[in-house]
Amino acid sequence: MSTKRDYYEVLQVSRQASEREIKAAYRKLAVRFHPDRNPDDPQAEEKFKEAAEAYAVLSDPEKRARYDRYGHQGVAGGVNIDPTIFSDFTDVFGDLFGLGDLFGRRHRRGPRGIPGADLRYDLTLTFEEAAFGKKVTIRYPRLERCDACHGTGSRDGNLATCGTCGGLGQVRMNRGFITLAQTCPRCAGQGRVVENPCDVCGGEGRTEREREREISIPAGVDNGLRLRLRGEGEHGRRGGPPGDLDVVLHVEPHPRLERQGADVFEELELSYPQLVLGTTAGVVTLHGEEQLKVPAGTQPGHEFRLRGKGIPRLDGEGRGDHVVRILLRVPRPKELGEEQLALLRKLAESEGVEVHEGRGVIDKMRHLFN
Ligand SMILES: [Zn+2]
Ligand SMILES: [Zn+2]
Repeated sequence: MSTKRDYYEVLQVSRQASEREIKAAYRKLAVRFHPDRNPDDPQAEEKFKEAAEAYAVLSDPEKRARYDRYGHQGVAGGVNIDPTIFSDFTDVFGDLFGLGDLFGRRHRRGPRGIPGADLRYDLTLTFEEAAFGKKVTIRYPRLERCDACHGTGSRDGNLATCGTCGGLGQVRMNRGFITLAQTCPRCAGQGRVVENPCDVCGGEGRTEREREREISIPAGVDNGLRLRLRGEGEHGRRGGPPGDLDVVLHVEPHPRLERQGADVFEELELSYPQLVLGTTAGVVTLHGEEQLKVPAGTQPGHEFRLRGKGIPRLDGEGRGDHVVRILLRVPRPKELGEEQLALLRKLAESEGVEVHEGRGVIDKMRHLFN
């Protein structure tokens, strides 16, 4: 019943033809009947497809053996998806348009397929977690290879020749006087399309699943830092490589501490007598409490550096400092008792300076104009 021509006849080779001879024969025919060279010529397209089908069978030793024994019926199930056939195809067509140096090299290596998309995960850390590092388990949805069809997208493993590129995997585009070969958008360069889509993934070859992964956040990371996890993005299609996962870090602010690189800054308010006479103040760093000696006569704005009490440097070269910036606390009169106010008046008197109690700037100006 089959009206199909004999595959050997199609490729015009003998039944004893070597793999190389078959490949060369196919190449010759494919170039001659390629749809781009024969626009609007259904006969050429038919011949082109016929040759592609013949090649798909005869280039595969197992299928060729079945064909030799049982004829077309032996391979009636169509062409099974087999990644090696695709690399074979690229071998044949890598230099088809004489663009080998321009495009061929890239295409010739490994399976083409469609690479998986990169994904982004936003992770919020506390100030301390960023400083000391942490093991975190993250969960995120991503497209993974469909188990039902082993990522082929096909229910039965059968593929048909892609009608868009006629099985070549490439389409040609004219850009001015140059002709560019582009990967076929329909079949992603595979030359074949799924005949009966998989019920689970609908032919996509991938399904969405939740990915769980533990990641180690190194000590010393900072806001906005990206950790790139190779291959943790979406799975590729048709043998394409997986994408990456970018974990973008967000560090929560600390109520008391501020960070600049590996250094931690803190403001410490002291009273006038403390600054004049000197004092010892307790300072809580990330690594525990320290007693900070503030010498007599310390000026507001002065900074004390507690060496190595800051955040570990990302490169592992020690730690930053904990910097204490001294501020002068100026109380409002109503915060003070009568006794303290009396002492302050006495201090002003002994210094020989004038004070205006209860009068703000507005009061003073009113005084000037009356
Ligand atoms: Zn195609
Ligand atoms: Zn599937």
